[in-house]
Parts: sequence; structure tokens; C-alpha cells
Amino acid sequence: MKEYPDMESVIAAEKDVEAVFSKKPLSIEEGDGVYVYDGEGEEYLDFGASYGVMAVGHSNPSVVEAIREQAGKYTYAQASYATKARASLLERLKQHTPEALERVFLTNAGTEANETAFKLARASTPEGKTKVVAAENGFHGRTFGSISATYKKKYRQPFEPTVPEFEFTGFDDPESLKETVDDDTAMVILEPVQGEGGVQPASQEYVETARDVCSDHDSYLVFDEIQAGLGRTGRLWSHQHYDVTPDALTTAKALGGGMPVSALVCREAMTEIPKGSHGGTYCGNPVAAAAADAAVEHIVEEDLAANAAEKGERLIEGLREIDSDRVVEVRGRGLMVGVQVRGRAGRYLSGMAQEGVLALPAGSNVIRMLPPLTLEDEHVDEAVEAVEAVV
Ligand SMILES: *Cc1c(COP(=O)(O)O)cnc(C)c1O
Repeated sequence: MKEYPDMESVIAAEKDVEAVFSKKPLSIEEGDGVYVYDGEGEEYLDFGASYGVMAVGHSNPSVVEAIREQAGKYTYAQASYATKARASLLERLKQHTPEALERVFLTNAGTEANETAFKLARASTPEGKTKVVAAENGFHGRTFGSISATYKKKYRQPFEPTVPEFEFTGFDDPESLKETVDDDTAMVILEPVQGEGGVQPASQEYVETARDVCSDHDSYLVFDEIQAGLGRTGRLWSHQHYDVTPDALTTAKALGGGMPVSALVCREAMTEIPKGSHGGTYCGNPVAAAAADAAVEHIVEEDLAANAAEKGERLIEGLREIDSDRVVEVRGRGLMVGVQVRGRAGRYLSGMAQEGVLALPAGSNVIRMLPPLTLEDEHVDEAVEAVEAVV
């Protein structure tokens, strides 16, 4: 690796060469549990957890050990050769998802899991259904299929034309779903709790309606659990709050404990596609699979969903007690929490970083918190104080 004398030189090097991302004024060089450390050794409480990816905490010992062990054996062989780490992850995902979902396809990023859903939905409907229905303000990733199902213009417009026959309906609007879903609809994709869209939990009626209209028209109902799944909302899967079973779900972010891995978990019927028509070189990479297997085991064994429910309640209560007219609304489920503020969220986030707490925006005016699910009361209180200080 090249030598960098200080944090500024690392940031400058990335700014000079990297193609797309803007850079924050910090480099991150270490992480431990709920904390990260910048290039100068400064400590930050990580309430963004890099979009909720670090749900099991930074440098989680069981994840680190799983990566070391698998990397020491071998790092990659094509997925048509079975291997223990992948077998274990496949079985574990099947075990901890609804019984009707029997098949798992591993991919590398959230958007790829959704692409798989779009492709399998179209290819497996015997009637050749093509329409995909998504929700306003939903976010499903940045490849072409996923941006076609992603509502905000900023993610779509520069890249148009998008994929044909994707349609939007009002989020949390059962009537608009009933009107739009028809016999030509291959699938409906929804986030039971919208993340990018501003941390918005769907209503019971809406999710039930989605199930009913999909069943009525023989369309697949797919829940995008990429951000809200794996314990984040206080249940292992956010759709469990609704007691509604989808035909498929997608998961990523928290899944790999920091390694790039995602999955589509679906009904057998969805896998009935022409042989050899779908695949991917890195699907089921054994190092990523080993990390994911350890991360999911940790989330389940330590019941991090229960901790998310308990700490999330404390967080939401603490935030609601802040006496400031700059706080418009506090909402969320478990440790997926949004604070809608007056003015742009970015300004508040910079202030919070100066207080030693990192968080995320959702849209322009929501502070989004997706901390590691391993956190304790004192961390919750520290984050509430940081928000109080900036509003
Ligand atoms: C992050 C996210 C995605 C996209 O995942 P990537 O790994 O960035 O491709 C899709 N859906 C939801 C709900 C997300 O939060």
C-alpha cells in the first residue's frame, strides 16, 4: 500500500481520482463495535453504521474470524462447485425466512438481489407477464431495473430511458394499488418501512392490500428488506410486523457484516426459468458467504432484533422529548429512526459529527439513524444529546 502522511492526504488522493462519490472531511481507518475512528484517531459513535450495514457492530469478532478462516482456505471458486460456507449460509437464510420461500439466490449488492427478482418474476410467469409495480418514494438500488423501480427523479432522469413497463403507485395508498395491479403484473415490489424515502413505515391496510391484489392477479409480492430486514426494525424481518407473507424478499446491507453479499429468497415457482438464463461470476463468493453466515448467526443467536426494539423505543422517546421547534417529527420502528427537521438535514449532520456522532440523511430534511443493533442505553443517550445540541 502507498504511504499517506496524514488524513488530509488520504482524502485528497481519493478526491483526485475517485469517479463518483463526494468525500466527507473524515477518513475512517478503524472500527470497534458502535465506534469508528478517523485518520487522526478521533472517536465517533456510528449512528449511520454506513447505511445500516454494520448491524452486528464494527470488527465483530465472529465475522472477522469467519473471514480470516475462509480467506486462509481459498477466496473464490465458481458457484457451481459447492462449498461449506455457502451451503451453511443458504440453509441458514432458508431457515430464518418464511416457510413458503424455499429457494435462495446469492448476489453481491442489494440492487442485484432486486434485479434477480425482476428477472425471475418476468421469466417465471407462464403467461408472460411483464409489468412491475413499485411505490412512490421507494428506493431499490442503482442498476437499470432497480432505478426503474426507484421513484426519485434524481436517481433516474440522468440515465433515461429506463426499463419499460415499470409503474408507480402511491405509497401507503391501497386504492392506487388496486387500480394499477392487473393480470399483466409480474410483481409488486415494496419496502414495508421505506428508508431513503424518509423512514416511513407502511400501514397494515396497505401491506394487506398488496398481498390481496397480488394473490388476486397471480402476481408476485416482493418485499425489499435490504435496509429494514435482519433485526433492524425490532423483528427479524420488517414484514413480520404485518403478519403478511411475501412471495420473495431481498436482503443485503446488514447481511454480510460489512462484506458485499445480498440474496433473493423466493418461492420455488419463481425459479422456474429457462436453464442457464441467469447467473453471475461472484454469486455466493465463499469469503462473503462465510461473513454473512456468521453475521446472521450472531443476529439470531444474540436476538439483536429484541435489542433493536428496546433501544429503539428509548431512542424515539428521547428524541421526542427534545424541546425544539426545529424538530418537526420523530418516527420509525426499532433502530430505524428518522428525525424530520426544519431546514436541510446536512447542516445538522455536520454539527452532530462535531459532537462525535455520525448519522445519515434521508431525503433533504430527515436525519436518519441506523446504528449497530448491538448498542447499549448509554449510546442511545449520547446520540439524543448530540441531536439536542444541534437543534
Ligand atoms: C440500499 C438499498 C438498496 C440497494 O442496495 P445496494 O447494495 O446499494 O445496491 C435497495 N433497496 C433498499 C431498500 C436499500 O436501502
